[in-house]
Amino acid sequence: MLQLVKMQVETALFFESIEQIYTRVFRSIRPRTVLPEVSVRFRKYANANSRIRFENGRLLVDISDLLEGAPAPIHEALAFILICKLFRKAPENGVLARYRRYLNRADVRRTLHLVKQQRGRKAFRDPKGQFFDLCEVFEDLNLKYFHGLMARPQLGWSLRPSRTTLGHYDPSHNVIVLSCLFDSRSVPELIVRFVMFHEMLHLRYPTEHRGARRCVHTAEFKQAERVFESYRDAKQALKALVEQTETS
Ligand SMILES: [Zn+2]
Repeated sequence: MLQLVKMQVETALFFESIEQIYTRVFRSIRPRTVLPEVSVRFRKYANANSRIRFENGRLLVDISDLLEGAPAPIHEALAFILICKLFRKAPENGVLARYRRYLNRADVRRTLHLVKQQRGRKAFRDPKGQFFDLCEVFEDLNLKYFHGLMARPQLGWSLRPSRTTLGHYDPSHNVIVLSCLFDSRSVPELIVRFVMFHEMLHLRYPTEHRGARRCVHTAEFKQAERVFESYRDAKQALKALVEQTETS
């Protein structure tokens, strides 16, 4: 008997349309809410992002076309994640792990990487800012910490002064972008150097993928970061600066 029930669920998963998956998952999360009409569209995004929203009583789901060919259990997991998000609930760990494990699959990551390269446009400003030249900062750190052996990626200042993304390295475009928040007279050079050094370490120690986990700052990475000149001061100064600009 148990066997039969299990079979039914699995069979359903194979023959359901994507809208039916969303309808079923919606009902299981909000059994008392009136079922909305569901509309799912696959969009040409530069990443695997998906969006969900209510509009005129309809549930609209936009999914990256990169996931169009994903197996039904992955769409089911994504449906859980998105509908939970809509109602500010936390999805089960198992569901999250299922979805992440798929995105972490080597072939899926390769496709994502290529699509990002082709579709994503990268907008950033010239590395020579008003107060700091990122090429100079990079080369100085390169000599001091990497024996001058690190190939210089593209460098640039962000268009907007982000306080949440202070810097990032994008392997798809091979570019380090620093928040233009730091291109200011009031910012000590030590902070710019520290943020740049952190991003350079992302080139040196690429993200590790293990099953559903994605390890960005490995133990090796963190150890290497501590080698930075006056590491503690730099870290503290950076924290103070971000907090200070938050309140002002
Ligand atoms: Zn980092």
